[in-house]
Amino acid sequence: MTSYPRIAIIGAGPGGLTLARILHRAGMPATVFEREEHALARPQGGTLDLHAESGQLALRRAGLYEEFLAIARYEDQGSRLYDKNAKLLFADDDAAESDRPEVDRTALRNILLASLPEELVRWNHGLLEVRPRDDGTYDLVFETEIVGPFDLVVGADGSWSKVRPLVSSYRPQYSGITFIEFGIDDIDASHPDLAALVGRGKIGIEADGRGMIVQRNGNSHVRGYAIFRVPTDWAEKTFDFASPAKARVRLAAEFEGWAPEIIGLIDASNDHIVSRPIHALPVGHHWQNRLGITLLGDAAHVMSPFGGEGVNAAMLDAAELARQLLENADWKDAVKAYEADMFERVIEPAAQAAEAVATELSHLGAELSLQHYKAHLEARLQSSAA
Ligand SMILES: Cc1cc2nc3c(=O)[nH]c(=O)nc-3n(C[C@H](O)[C@H](O)[C@H](O)COP(=O)(O)OP(=O)(O)OC[C@H]3O[C@@H](n4cnc5c(N)ncnc54)[C@H](O)[C@@H]3O)c2cc1C
Repeated sequence: MTSYPRIAIIGAGPGGLTLARILHRAGMPATVFEREEHALARPQGGTLDLHAESGQLALRRAGLYEEFLAIARYEDQGSRLYDKNAKLLFADDDAAESDRPEVDRTALRNILLASLPEELVRWNHGLLEVRPRDDGTYDLVFETEIVGPFDLVVGADGSWSKVRPLVSSYRPQYSGITFIEFGIDDIDASHPDLAALVGRGKIGIEADGRGMIVQRNGNSHVRGYAIFRVPTDWAEKTFDFASPAKARVRLAAEFEGWAPEIIGLIDASNDHIVSRPIHALPVGHHWQNRLGITLLGDAAHVMSPFGGEGVNAAMLDAAELARQLLENADWKDAVKAYEADMFERVIEPAAQAAEAVATELSHLGAELSLQHYKAHLEARLQSSAA
């Protein structure tokens, strides 16, 4: 009889669930512990583009490619750049042939969850601490119980991982950039003029040392990020998030002098207005292998979202860790091999994301953004010609 390591996965995000699914499909047991009370406890956030060589590859290995195609929005890959007067500087409206379709996070989580037995994910289990035992195994300490022992604990618990301190003393650092997130529901029916401004994909606007990215999600929803280079506590001091009406007015005031239709995007926002300070671990973050502990996704290498690589990197980590565990006779060697590859693999996307956040809102303003948009189009055309 095969003897498998007892595996605990902390976090039911895209990384943790992809790992759980691939292992489950191959018959290797693992339990996921998630702090949220249930699958619908919180909206999972905006839209993500899944890349062929990483996010999509992971879903293929998970046997969920058909399910992915059913939620993929190929039609929403366009991009536009406007100036603050709503004059169009750049448009790539014809991108439906690209291979980086958008999926909504909630839809992605749903297809992963639907592919797993219910009892495999233990909701309402916010990890407080991983406690080593003398025999090299680990107990998981939750508010109401201690669960264990486990041979292998995988931290897939995001930026503020409670598993990471067992292998690394690094914590994500504030990048200097804060997003204020807002959203417009049912935009096609409620605000067709704003829907036309956004088009099928995302728009960017940058001027006066501030910016905005607004992106079409599924179900006629649009999500926006107002972008500022400010101290960490600026948003909490500036906005009364408990009163969305006040937060909306205050946010619109930040864009005084911009075209009414751009400010209209904020005016049309629903009451979900929140601050998202952007943090990242250092490029090249790594650790000495420690028996029975590893990390994947944001827990291992959170990066700024400007490169659009975070979820793709998390899912590829999961697919690669699963592959190593399934192919390798010794799970300890599997984890070492996974870590060695992963440390190398994420250096380039992490460096690009670090450069992107460092140059965001530079004095070159829209000129630099225009270069990025053009370079992106060029790369897209080259890859579809190849
Ligand atoms: C504003 C913003 C926009 C972004 N846009 C993009 C984008 O367009 N494209 C892209 O690729 N990436 C984007 N990202 C990055 C992307 O969200 C992450 O890289 C991705 O979600 C990482 O997946 P993960 O599974 O590693 O972690 P997460 O998605 O963070 O999932 C971690 C899970 O662990 C759970 N958890 C946390 N702590 C505990 C605990 N103590 N105990 C138990 N469970 C716990 C959480 O509830 C969560 O379910 C964006 C990020 C931000 C902030």
